Formats: sequence, structure tokens, C-alpha cells
Amino acid sequence: MFSDKTDFKEAFLKRLEMSYGKPFPHTTKRDQFHTLGNMIREYISMNWIHTNEHYRLQNQKQMYYLSIEFLLGRLLGQNLINLGIYEIVKDGLQDLGITLDDLEEIESDAGLGNGGLGRLAACFLDSLASLDLPGHGSGIRYKHGLFEQKIVEGYQVELPEQWLRHGHVWEVRKPDLTVNVPFWGRVESFVDDQGNLRFEHRDAEYVSAVPYDNPVVGYKNSTVNTLRLWSAEPARYQPHKDMMKYKRDTEAITEFLYPDDTHDEGKILRLKQQYFLVCASIRTIVDSYLTKNDDLLKLPEYVVIHINDTHPVLAIPELMRLLLDEYKMNWDDAWYIVTKTFCYTNHTTLSEALETWPVRIFQPLLPRIYSIVNEINERYCHQLWQSYPNEWDRIEKMAIIAHGEVKMAHLAIAGSFSVNGVAKIHSEILKKREMNLFYQFSPEKFNSKTNGITHRRWLLKANPELAQLITETIGSEWIRSPDHLTKLHAFSSDSSFQQELAKVRRVKKEKLAHRIYQQNGIVVDINSIFDVQVKRLHAYKRQLLNVLHIMYLYNRLKEDPTYNMLPRTFIFGAKASPGYYYAKKIIKLIHSVSKKVNADPMVKEKIKIIFLENYRVSVAEEIFPAADVSEQISTASKEASGTGNMKFMMNGALTVGTLDGANIEILERAGKENIFIFGLSAEEVLRYYSQGGYSSMEYYHLDERIHTVVNQLVNGFFSEDESEFEPIFDSLLVENDYYFVLRDFASYIDIHQEVDATFQKPEKWWKMSIENIANSGYFSSDRTIEEYSNHIWKINQYSFHK
Ligand SMILES: *Cc1c(COP(=O)(O)O)cnc(C)c1O
Repeated sequence: MFSDKTDFKEAFLKRLEMSYGKPFPHTTKRDQFHTLGNMIREYISMNWIHTNEHYRLQNQKQMYYLSIEFLLGRLLGQNLINLGIYEIVKDGLQDLGITLDDLEEIESDAGLGNGGLGRLAACFLDSLASLDLPGHGSGIRYKHGLFEQKIVEGYQVELPEQWLRHGHVWEVRKPDLTVNVPFWGRVESFVDDQGNLRFEHRDAEYVSAVPYDNPVVGYKNSTVNTLRLWSAEPARYQPHKDMMKYKRDTEAITEFLYPDDTHDEGKILRLKQQYFLVCASIRTIVDSYLTKNDDLLKLPEYVVIHINDTHPVLAIPELMRLLLDEYKMNWDDAWYIVTKTFCYTNHTTLSEALETWPVRIFQPLLPRIYSIVNEINERYCHQLWQSYPNEWDRIEKMAIIAHGEVKMAHLAIAGSFSVNGVAKIHSEILKKREMNLFYQFSPEKFNSKTNGITHRRWLLKANPELAQLITETIGSEWIRSPDHLTKLHAFSSDSSFQQELAKVRRVKKEKLAHRIYQQNGIVVDINSIFDVQVKRLHAYKRQLLNVLHIMYLYNRLKEDPTYNMLPRTFIFGAKASPGYYYAKKIIKLIHSVSKKVNADPMVKEKIKIIFLENYRVSVAEEIFPAADVSEQISTASKEASGTGNMKFMMNGALTVGTLDGANIEILERAGKENIFIFGLSAEEVLRYYSQGGYSSMEYYHLDERIHTVVNQLVNGFFSEDESEFEPIFDSLLVENDYYFVLRDFASYIDIHQEVDATFQKPEKWWKMSIENIANSGYFSSDRTIEEYSNHIWKINQYSFHK
């Protein structure tokens, strides 16, 4: 379309002036962004059509990734890189006096996710397309993504996020592919001409699901897959006694993303969202299959459907419904198809996060789906009975419906051929504990797939300076095959490479310092250690441990101004779910401590505390490359995998972490001499939970350092209002510190002293950093996706265009 920058410039200028009816000098940055975005989308569509045509003609097995969240971030820069035209466009714009970076800043983050789970889905899409794999996403087009966070006097305030205000240039609305989704009503049974018992859903209220297709561009390979996002609209012929109410209720379905990634919200609207997504997705998946094939029994040879956590698990009874009611199949054939088509990923072992729905909500909203789940449950329990006769207790624990609740994880396991955890330790905990009974019953279903991140966004795009240094040093193969990063081993002690890496880090720290100054008005020292904890705010992630440690350092410096520590800049970024009272208190604590510490002339050379507002993908891209230290300090056994830890590692930050989630595999890959590990192990934590023996009060009384900082939560030291942090104080002492913050405190102090000592030896530090980068290729989502493709999905790469 444009082979060089002159072509591009001409096309761009013409398009810009024609679109906005004004001469170039009068156009705004937004005009320019939209013009560029539209041009690139059209450029993409040629390959999009080719890819789809290829899939249709080859009749190749397709994978559909169903997820209630896709945390995409911005797309312009990544699309240009993947198309291989980033430089042409950048140079062309520069000739016109336009900076590409500025146009990229205009784009709103597509923030259709909370955190790790949604970002994983986005990384997977990038890897699927880049590996030429036929895999597509299906999700919800929320009008408002995750809320926008403002900090007002130290408190989090939530504003509705407005990513669609100026439109979304990448999407294509496809109203002719609308699917009608039924809610409410009742089920009637009747006997058909062949004498079979059949069911019909009567008096349903229909809602239209309208798809918006988003291209997913592979890295320099002409592949363009599809992310289909569904939007709810009133159905055309839906009679209703109160039209206004019907319209409002309908549009509410895709209005907001639930701002919580751990607790089940327990809202009817949430269940509506879930069914809305799967009903629309399954309909188009089956329709697409039937345009090429006629035998539904062969569906599993051509289609595999992945369920990201339990939110889309109603896809299982929904496919049953389609096969039974619309294609008139018998139960056994339908169940055979379903259980060979679905696979499921579990993302958590936190018991409060395991989704269940009260039957009294589920049944009236989704009467036909409920009756199918009920039947699945009865047959599943019957099967269990064959294996475990008279073991009532066991069967009750494994049932899909029990005590008036539908257990979504149990339905997912019963209806899937594969169940995986997201890191080795997590998968082991699932097998040994949380899902042990299911593992005993069907061990062949269980497997582990350690998460990954796309190195194309988190290294190539987020840190072009480092990417270029790596390419100059070992060549560019690592971009296609990230395990080539291991070639950097040979340079880990090379002083000129170390110095170049230090230079890159400096540049990235300067950029972040600039943003910090703009946003927070605080000047930070580039030479200080940038010690970063960015992730959702949750008690188990233990931002509190980090804050208490800062309070300890502050006390230490106040006692002894000559205390020898390197200057540190502690950087936080975290959103708290709006209803999560405790998490919001922690945000306030971070701000109260930073207010006092940042203003104290006695320590200002040593400690700065920064809270970066509204943490999201685009901010994350600036933070990871600038970090020296990565804080991954969850209570062992609680973080299923973590993916932030991998982004830091790939950019050369050193991890301070517990033996939890993927930290363990980072340790295995990087080597124990290249990581800072502290704290209880998962086994120790789980032993405490099952056998008791921990008393936080003892640690409080015996360790003077703990005593001081915990008292400072309630003695007005950091807050005028002495009751402000009482809930935190209580969680530590009254509730016996469920997350073992005080238990791990001493070892956390010690490990940070080691960090300090290591930073004083630059040769050692940079060697460790390089070893981390060199071993980070394993954590590319390309590796993860290859494992899913080969071992679960059984889908193949194609290469029609090469
Ligand atoms: C990677 C990422 C996460 C996940 O971080 P964890 O440390 O694994 O919890 C959350 N939010 C954003 C914006 C991310 O990029």
C-alpha cells in the first residue's frame, strides 16, 4: 500500500485533508490520529480477508478463546510494528512535523479487563496471530472499561472510563451477524413427531448481541485473526410493556466491566453478561462450522473452545442446548461433542473467588440452561456413584449443583477434556488440594501451562532501546524465537555490554522520572534504586508489607541519620476494586506515608515514595523498562502465576519475591544467584492454615521494628485521624494476620539489605540483570501458546502466504 515514506506521506496528507475538510496546518492531533488509524485498518483488511478466506478454504481446525476480559491497551504502535511499517510511518510523519509518539498518546487504552487474567488473553491473541495459528478471541465490548482512578487527598476516586468517546478506529461493526439472546421466560416440554421428549423456551425476552470485529495482526507474517467483541442492543421485534425500561436493561448488559478480579460480584447483571457472551459466541462458532461441514459429530475435529476461568463456562450447557433443542440430537451424542470440544483454565485457588450462583437467581433468568445444568449434574453424580458407591460425602463435594448453588468450576471440569493451572506450583496445588477429588476421578484432564507475556509488546515495543541493544549484540532472531535471548549469557560479564545496558536503563528511568514530575510534581533521583510494585491492590499481594518496610526504613533513618542505605524511589501503581474497603485503606496508607516521608528534609536524599495514578497497560509499558527492582511479594501459595513478574524480568529488573506462582520458575530459569527470594514457602503457609501455630501477636511483641511500625498505624504518626488505619492494625493483630505480613517482615528487611549491597557492586548487579534477560525467553507467550496448541488444542500453523 505504501512502499516508502513518500508514498505514505502523500496518501496520509490527502486522506487527512479530505476527511476533515481543512488544510493540513489546521488539523488537530486527534484528526491525524484518526486518519492514520483508519488508513492502517484498511491496510490490515487486505490480509484480514486473505486470512479468513484461507481458513474457510482449508477448513482447518479453529480455536476460539472465550474470555470475559481482554486487556488490550493501545494498538496503533503495536500494529505498525507487527505490520513492519513503523519506521516508514514514523519518518514520514516526522517530515510533516508530526511525532508518532504524540499520535500514539491520543489513543485510549482498550481497558476491557481488570489485570492479569485479561492481559493474558491479550498476550495470547498476539502470539496466536504471530505464530500463524488459527485462534480467535470472543469477548464483550464494554462501553466503559475498567474505571479511571483519580487520587484525591490520598483516597481513590473512581470515574467512568470513556474509551469509546471518540470511537475506536480498529473495529468493524457487523450488524448482519447479530445473534438474539434469550433471558427469563419458561421451559415447556412436548413430544415430537418421532416420539422424543423435546423442550422449548417460551416467553423469553430477547436481547440482540451485535458483533464488532477487531483485527489481531501477527508479527510480519500477513496473518490477521479476529477478536469479536459483542455489544448488547434492543432486539428489533421484542414486544415489551415498558420499552424504555427494556432498552435501559438491555444496554446495561454491556455498559460496565465488573471492577473486581477476585470476588464473585453476585449480581444478576454479571450472570446476564456471562450468558450473553457465550450464547452469541457459540451461535457464530457453530454457524461458521456448518458453512463448511454438515456432520456435527465431527465438530471436535474442527473446533476447540477455550474457557478462560469460569466466567464463560455456560458455553458448555449452551452448546448442549443448541445440539439438543435446535439440532435435535440425543443427549449422549451432544455430551460426546461437548466434552471433546471444551477446555478450561483455572486462575485462582482463593476460595472466595470460586464462582457459584444461587439457583434462585440462575433458574428464572436462564430456565432452559438451568434445566440442562441440572441434567448434567444428575448424570455426573450418577457416574460418580458408579466409581464411588455409597460415598455420599465425596459426591456431595463434587456435585455441580448443591445446597442451592451452581458451582461453575465443577461444571467446567465435568464438561471439559482439559483443565489447566497457570504455573507449576499452582497446578500442583489444584491437584493436591483444591481440586483433588476431581483429579482423583479424572487425572488425565489435569495439566499445567505456565503463563507467558508477549515479548513483542513488553520488550520490542515498550523498550525499543533495549531491543535495539539486544539486536546489535546477538542479532534479531530473538524477535521471532525468544529463546535466542539465551545468547546474551555470553555477554553477562562483558563490561561494555553492561555499560550499554546501564545506559538504556538510565534513559528509561529519565523518561519515567519525567512522567512522575508531570503527574505528581515530584523530582526523583535517577541514580536511586527504582523499586517498583505495580499490580491490582489486594491483601494477598501484600502491598502492605512493602509499605511497612518503607516505614521501618524511615524510622531507621530518623534514629540514625548516618544509616548507610542507597537512595531508593519506591514506586506503586494499583487500582483497588471500588467495594474493597481494606484495599482502599492501603492506598490511603501509601499516600499518608509518602506525604510525611517525601516532605521530611532529613530523609529526602534517601527515600521517595511515588504513587502513579490510574495504572493500566500504557502506563505499565513505561514502568517495566525503568525498574531496577521488581516486587513480587504475595503470600506464598496465593498468586496463581503472576505475569507482571515476567515483564520485569524481560526488561532486566531483579526480582524480590516469595516462592509463589511463576516466581519459582523465574528462580529456576534465572538461577538462585540472580534473584532475591525471601519468606515462607507455600508448604509452610498451607501447614499454618491447616495446623495452626502462627501468632502475629508474638512477632509484634518480640520484634521491636514490627512493634514500632504497627503502632504507627494507630498512634497518629502518619495520620491526624488515629482511627484511619485501624482496620489495617486489626487485620494484623486482631485477625492474626491471615497473609503472614509480620511473619515475613524480618526476612523481607534482610533481603532488601542484600539488594542494597548488590546495587553497590554494579558489575554484579548488571550481570544478574543480563542473566535475567537472557533467561526470559521461556516466559514469552509464544512458548505458552505452542504448548496449548500442541498439547490441548491440536491446532496447526499454516503458511499459505510464504
Ligand atoms: C501484567 C499486568 C497485570 C498483571 O500484573 P501481576 O503483577 O501479575 O498481578 C495487571 N495490570 C496490567 C496493566 C498489566 O500489564
